[in-house]
Amino acid sequence: MPALFVGHGSPMNAIERNTFSDAWIALGEQLPKPEAILSVSAHWFTRGTKINRSPETKMVYDMYGFPDELYRVVYPAPGSPLFSQKAKLLLEDRADFDDSWGLDHGSWSVLRRLFPKADVPVFQVSVDAYASMEDHFAMGERLQALRDEGVLILGSGNIVHNLGRVDWQSAGGFPWAHDFDGYVKQAILSRSLERVIRYQEAGEPARLAVPTPDHYAPLLYVLGASEGSDRVRVFNEACVMGSLSMTGYLFESSADNVV
Ligand code: ZN
Repeated sequence: MPALFVGHGSPMNAIERNTFSDAWIALGEQLPKPEAILSVSAHWFTRGTKINRSPETKMVYDMYGFPDELYRVVYPAPGSPLFSQKAKLLLEDRADFDDSWGLDHGSWSVLRRLFPKADVPVFQVSVDAYASMEDHFAMGERLQALRDEGVLILGSGNIVHNLGRVDWQSAGGFPWAHDFDGYVKQAILSRSLERVIRYQEAGEPARLAVPTPDHYAPLLYVLGASEGSDRVRVFNEACVMGSLSMTGYLFESSADNVV
């Protein structure tokens, strides 16, 4: 299975049709159907790494002040006790089971576009607020084996995510946002992944783009789960509202049956 990083952006992308959500729909139509989806969402930000093993998913509406329609979205995919157990075996004592959370909007806003039938089991793995980027990457490496078992490794965050700097009137991105998004793209396409891990080397743009690790860290799981032989597809390459990047990356093994 491929590994996929999606820049989820505004929760409104869950219900609005725009170039970003349309690209998710188009992408979903091209992906092979997974056995399960392991979703690392920026919005489950915890002390230590948590894995949800519940057979049922529950909706988490972790956003405030949006239209009622958004709080009526239901994504009724089942959980995956089987693959959550396998993820736990791979992460060993680095992670614990925790069924207190469910599917948050980092997952469902994207999954309802990618897999609208909601017929693929999905489970979330949290972002450990205290882990280093090296740790996040290493956990992605450990989880890579699940790709061979048909599990889609999904990271949902934003490479540039600074809510304190959001400019609602701005259609594009601030120069530093484009700089950092470009820095990461160049590093990924040249497979210089240590530059993504040590993103602070990008200087001031990095400091502004990643004020907290939550939205950046999901990318590290996808990169850890990727292989040098994967084909890389860049999609939704754009910055919006000044300080958000929507850019996504798909890593496809040459063995993947992508139509
Ligand atoms: Zn978010």
